[in-house]
Amino acid sequence: MSKVQETVLEIDLNALKHNFKYIKSKLNNNTKILAVVKAFGYGTDACEIAKYLEKLKIDYLAVAYTKEGVALRDAGIKTPILILHPQTTTFKTIIERCLEPNLYSKRVLDAFVAIAEAEHQKNYPIHIKFNTGLNRLGFKEDAISFIISKIKSTTSIKITSVFSHLIASEDLNEQSFSDQQIVAFKNITKCLFDQLGYKPMLHILNTSGILNYPEAQFDMVRSGIGLYGFGNNDTDTKMLQNVASLKSIISQIHHIKKGESVGYNKAFVADRTTKTATIPIGHADGIHRAFGNGKGFVTIKGKKASIVGNVCMDMLMVNITNIDCKEGDEVILFDNQKTVNELAENINSISYEIITAISQRVKRIVK
Ligand SMILES: *Cc1c(COP(=O)(O)O)cnc(C)c1O
Repeated sequence: MSKVQETVLEIDLNALKHNFKYIKSKLNNNTKILAVVKAFGYGTDACEIAKYLEKLKIDYLAVAYTKEGVALRDAGIKTPILILHPQTTTFKTIIERCLEPNLYSKRVLDAFVAIAEAEHQKNYPIHIKFNTGLNRLGFKEDAISFIISKIKSTTSIKITSVFSHLIASEDLNEQSFSDQQIVAFKNITKCLFDQLGYKPMLHILNTSGILNYPEAQFDMVRSGIGLYGFGNNDTDTKMLQNVASLKSIISQIHHIKKGESVGYNKAFVADRTTKTATIPIGHADGIHRAFGNGKGFVTIKGKKASIVGNVCMDMLMVNITNIDCKEGDEVILFDNQKTVNELAENINSISYEIITAISQRVKRIVK
């Protein structure tokens, strides 16, 4: 790969393919895979990721909000798209763009049926979510009779799948809670199907669920973070490849005398002669201000250079006193999962937050 000349997020589709195949290898032959491409494909480029996964014959896609699904349709994506958290104001758009809503409460089910009927829909595909412990979105078990009577009162919608979400699938200390959620999900869906008269698909596992609870894969699994290269632990992560690499360059080098400060509010004052490099990436690009004052670092010529002073909106400064480098040289923010995890730990965060934070100002390059 040639060296970069500006701040870019490189997206490695071969790594994505590897991760897709790895996840597939963990599943039964007939288990479907839903790829989660919400939040711009976890900060990468949802359309590019979805197009490539469509070539690999992905079964389903999911995003959080309708707008994200519309962007995929605009890019020509034909695969079914589940909207995980649709707002009622977008229900008409959902139907117009052949998107499939998660209906998780009486309020949204009623609202969707009203619109599907007004739009003269027949058997419009919808998904029902049950809350088995996360207490975020989903019907409780006692809503089954309401759901059944609603479904039987209309021909406008048809349940394509029923799903739930584990609260701590990555944490084996919570294994008994996860097992309980899986049992509750089985019981709820059995009761629902007995009255429904047909069998929608079932799914409960996210990436770490796939790795830790393969026996609960049901008809489909939902993988997000794993496709982008992150597993539950170092062993799993080593089997996956890094998809997104954030790179930049040195804009300018400064020689700081003892006693001089660097950046806003004199957050750094040199206690000795110091050499700094200014990098064209800041908190508006997704490098959180919490990375200031040594909590974050970049890599230049294979050596770590820690962030000096406060992260600015559009740039940050790093200490290159002991690095032999020049203006224009390449700077790596991250190009592997270990670095992302280390950066996340330094600011009490998780890989998900680090990668999804990279703002739309940063140019994406697909490899
Ligand atoms: C985001 C999300 C996922 C993907 O989870 P990963 O841990 O990234 O695999 C799956 N299901 C739901 C409901 C989600 O919101």
